[in-house]
Amino acid sequence: MKTLLDLEFQNRFTRDLPADPETTTRPREVTGALYSRVSPTAVAAPKLIAGSRECATLIGLDPSELEGEDFARVFGGNALVPGMDPFAMAYGGHQFGHWAGQLGDGRAINLGEIRGPKGAGWTLQLKGAGMTPYSRRADGLAVLRSSVREFLCSEAMFHLGVPTTRALSLVTTGDQVMRDMFYDGNAKLEPGAVVCRVARSFVRFGSFELPASRGDEVLLRSLADHVIRTSFPELNAPPAGTAIPAETYVAWVREVVRTTAVMVAHWMRVGFVHGVMNTDNMSILGETIDYGPYGWLEGYDPGWTPNTTDAQGKRYRFGNQHQIAHWNLTRLASAVVPLVGDVEALQEAVDGFQAIYTEAWTGMLASKLGLPEFDEERDGPLAVDLFRILELQETDMTIFFRELAGPLGGDAVSALARASYGDGFDGETVTALEAWLGSYRSRLEALGVEDGPRRARMDGANPRYVLRNYLAQLAIDRAAKGDPTGVTELLEVLRRPYEDQPGRDEFAARRPEWARHRAGCSTLSCSS
Ligand code: AMP
Ligand code: MG
Repeated sequence: MKTLLDLEFQNRFTRDLPADPETTTRPREVTGALYSRVSPTAVAAPKLIAGSRECATLIGLDPSELEGEDFARVFGGNALVPGMDPFAMAYGGHQFGHWAGQLGDGRAINLGEIRGPKGAGWTLQLKGAGMTPYSRRADGLAVLRSSVREFLCSEAMFHLGVPTTRALSLVTTGDQVMRDMFYDGNAKLEPGAVVCRVARSFVRFGSFELPASRGDEVLLRSLADHVIRTSFPELNAPPAGTAIPAETYVAWVREVVRTTAVMVAHWMRVGFVHGVMNTDNMSILGETIDYGPYGWLEGYDPGWTPNTTDAQGKRYRFGNQHQIAHWNLTRLASAVVPLVGDVEALQEAVDGFQAIYTEAWTGMLASKLGLPEFDEERDGPLAVDLFRILELQETDMTIFFRELAGPLGGDAVSALARASYGDGFDGETVTALEAWLGSYRSRLEALGVEDGPRRARMDGANPRYVLRNYLAQLAIDRAAKGDPTGVTELLEVLRRPYEDQPGRDEFAARRPEWARHRAGCSTLSCSS
C-alpha cells in the first residue's frame, strides 16, 4: 500500500492522445483534440467528510492516507501530487433522444491515471472542481447533496455487485454554491463539495459520437484504438503502429453491448433507476456512471422515474432502461461505422443486445426466485404473474423479495404483507398471491429445491439494504448541518447489503409517509 506521494502516475490518456493547445477555461468548441489540460480551482477550506477504504485499497493507496491533511487538500482541488496531469475530456451526447453537440467534462477534472496493484490503471477524477472549457454557461461546481448521493451510491452499487465507477472520497469545500433546486426562480446558496471518482476509464459513448459528428475519422480512430488497447486487452489488438482490423472494432462493440446489457440487468435486479441515460452518461466499460437524479424503487412500478426533468415523457423510467440502453448502443455503433465500413456487422453486434439482456436478466430472476436456472416456458409465466401482482398494490420491491426467501407455509402472505405500503394486502392481492405461492411451491418441489439453499441463493440476489431515497436525504440533512456521521453510518450499512445486520432494521424499512412527496426523497431535478 502506497502513500499519496508514492502513487505512480502513468497518464496514458494524455500521453498518447491529442490535446487542445489552449489551456484556459474560456468556454469553447474543441476540435481536433480529445481533451483540454485544466487545473482544479482552489477552494476555501477542504475537509474530508467520508472516504471509502475499499476504494483506496483497490488503487493501492493506504486507507489511513484518507485521514491525512494532504488528502483533503488534493481531493478538494487545492494541490496536485507530482505526476498528476489534470485534464477535462471532450465528448458529445444524445440527451433525451436528441443530439446535443459538444458537452464534455464541464465540472469533472481528471487528475491522472495511476498504475495500481497488478498493473491496473485507475483514473482519479474530481467532480465539482471548477470551470473547464466545457462548463458552457455553468459554474463547474457541485453541491453537497448531490455529492453525498454520488459518493454513497457509487460504493453501494459496488457492494451490491453492480458494475459501477467508484468513489474514493467526499470533501466539502467551505465555499457556497448558488443553485435553483426546483428551477422555479428560487435560487439559494448551498454548501459545495467535491467527490473523487475512480474508474479504469471515464470514456463515454458520447466521446466517440463527438468526433464522428464532425467527420473527424482520424480522431475517432485514435480514441477507439487507445480504448481498445488499454481497456480491452482480451481483444488482442495489435500494438500501436499496426492498424487494428475491422473485425476487432466489431468485437469491441459486441463486448460493449454485452457489458451494458449485463449492467442494466443488475439495475433491474436491485431496483435502481439511473434517471439520465443520455449517451454522454454511458460508460464504454458498461459501468454505471454519473449519479444524478437517480432513485431506488420503493413500490414496484416499471413506470417510475425519479427525474422531474423527465416527468413528462418518462423516457428513462425503470421499465424502459433496457430499451434505452439498446438505443444508446445503436448511437455508439453508428458513430464507429467509419472505422468498420461494414454497417451490417455493427448492426448485428447491436442486435445481439436483446438476447444477451434476456439471458442476463432471466438468470438473475432465477436467483431472485431461488431457482437453479430459468426455464422460459415454465418460469416465464411465473415471473410475469408475480410482477403483475406486485403492481396490484403499492408493494416495496426490496422488502418483498427478501421476505419471499422466508418459509412458504401458511404465514407466507402475512410476512410478504410487510412490503405493502397500504394497510396490508387487500382481498384481491391476497387471493392472487396465494394462488401464485401455490404455483411457486409446486415449481420448487418439482425441481427438488430445499428451503436452505433456496434462501441462500435468494439472499445473495435480493439485497436487504439499498440506498433508499429518503435514507440518502436524511444523511444529507445531517451533513448540511455539519454532522457527517449520517453518511459514514449509511456507507457502513451498505458495505454488506446482503447480510441481515442486527440492530439496523431502520435501514431496511419501508419509506415513511412523510418522505412520499418530499423533494430529494421521491423526486429530484437535474440541479446539482
Ligand atoms: P449531466 O446531465 O449531469 O451528465 O450533465 C450534462 C453536461 O452538463 C455535462 O457536460 C456536464 O459536465 C455539464 N454540467 C452539469 N452540471 C454542470 C456544472 N455545474 N458546471 C459545469 N458543467 C456542468
Ligand atoms: Mg454526465
